[in-house]
Amino acid sequence: MSEEIPEEKKEYDTTIIYDYADYPDIVSGRCDNCGKAQFESSVKNYVYIRKCRECGMKKSI
Ligand SMILES: [Zn+2]
Repeated sequence: MSEEIPEEKKEYDTTIIYDYADYPDIVSGRCDNCGKAQFESSVKNYVYIRKCRECGMKKSI
């Protein structure tokens, strides 16, 4: 008998927008998900959205 324990992996959902207040950058100016530092930025409803060019993770700042 074997029990499968799901591996705990830190993955971010790219379909939602994370709030910087709740998810501050692990490394400042870099994506928490992939570590890349290239972003696209946009403003939505007066909120600045930073989107990673690599993985698409979004964060409101
Ligand atoms: Zn990324």
